[in-house]
Amino acid sequence: MTFSRIPDVDAEKAGMLGTAGVPINTHRALQCLRNLIDIWPDGVLVCDFESLRIDEWNSAARHLIDVQGAAIEGSRLPQWFLSSDRRALQRRILQELDKDGDTLRHNMTLHNDTPVEITLVPMRDTDAISLIVVLRDRRPYLDHLHTVKRQLAKAEELISQDALTGLLNRLGFEQAIEEFMVEAQSDKPFALMIADIDHFKDINDTYGHQLGDEALKVVAARLAEQLRDDDAVARYGGEEFCILMAVPDTQVVEIAERVRHAVAATPIGLGDGSRLTLTISIGATYYQPALSADAMFERADEALYEAKEYGRNRTVMLQPLPMSAADEEE
Ligand code: GH3
Ligand code: MG
Ligand code: MG
Repeated sequence: MTFSRIPDVDAEKAGMLGTAGVPINTHRALQCLRNLIDIWPDGVLVCDFESLRIDEWNSAARHLIDVQGAAIEGSRLPQWFLSSDRRALQRRILQELDKDGDTLRHNMTLHNDTPVEITLVPMRDTDAISLIVVLRDRRPYLDHLHTVKRQLAKAEELISQDALTGLLNRLGFEQAIEEFMVEAQSDKPFALMIADIDHFKDINDTYGHQLGDEALKVVAARLAEQLRDDDAVARYGGEEFCILMAVPDTQVVEIAERVRHAVAATPIGLGDGSRLTLTISIGATYYQPALSADAMFERADEALYEAKEYGRNRTVMLQPLPMSAADEEE
């Protein structure tokens, strides 16, 4: 027991005192308080305000400060956790207390890297001022915060991810295109491609929805393989995929064709030994300053429509519409 200013009660003496009534109750109450403070989970130190010498401490304080009781005895507060000198600290405490009332609270890290919240409570006696220092270990709180942040980040990732293919979903795509738009303003223009599986309905109708899902996964994997880390690939919906990439406009068709061939070159096994070849059509367009993400998407969709019209399994790239024409179309 380190919280020792209050004397231990001798049972016999207490019995004698008990006849006087009040003293025994006071002793009991004080001893109760002393026991309570010693098992209190927060660290408690009592210092002489003038010298900042530590007179008393409880087990939690010793544990947090991580030194032997003998090393605490008679030490001064600043040694452990206050960078300012004694006078500066005292001035600060008095100033802060004048402003805010009767306690001063702040977070800091102890010499042993333990993050704590410190509450300083001055206590005026008849002849001296004591300073009660309460140290609350912030590690459980910070651990909890860390867990919550990690879960939040995971949840954020999940809401922008397509469950079937693991690609971005429509929400993820919308966030990604906004980010590409911002980058493009600082001279990093980009291309948008929409890839749509040809005659996908027939695949579902002929081989079943399950195989259709398998086909979606295979196409998604092919698209992701063909692209670089900085590109964004999304399943925009159904059997339609969107790709964003920061490349010169002169390379867009070449890349789209590479992607298209990669899909066609990977037939899906049907279980009976036969294989089904899938094809995609791609509509592409390119960033133009002052054109919105929606306008860009519409232009790529138009290109996709043309690719389908011309017979599917091909790429059509349309230059962005001049501003006035895009406005008229809206
Ligand atoms: P086109 O060549 O013109 O693109 O023809 P299509 O048959 O691919 O296009 P259509 O839009 O007529 O059909 C798309 C089909 O995609 C219809 C729908 O049942 C199917 N589909 C949409 N989402 C999913 C899915 O998550 N899983 C499966 N298996 N099929 C899906
Ligand atoms: Mg289709
Ligand atoms: Mg479609």
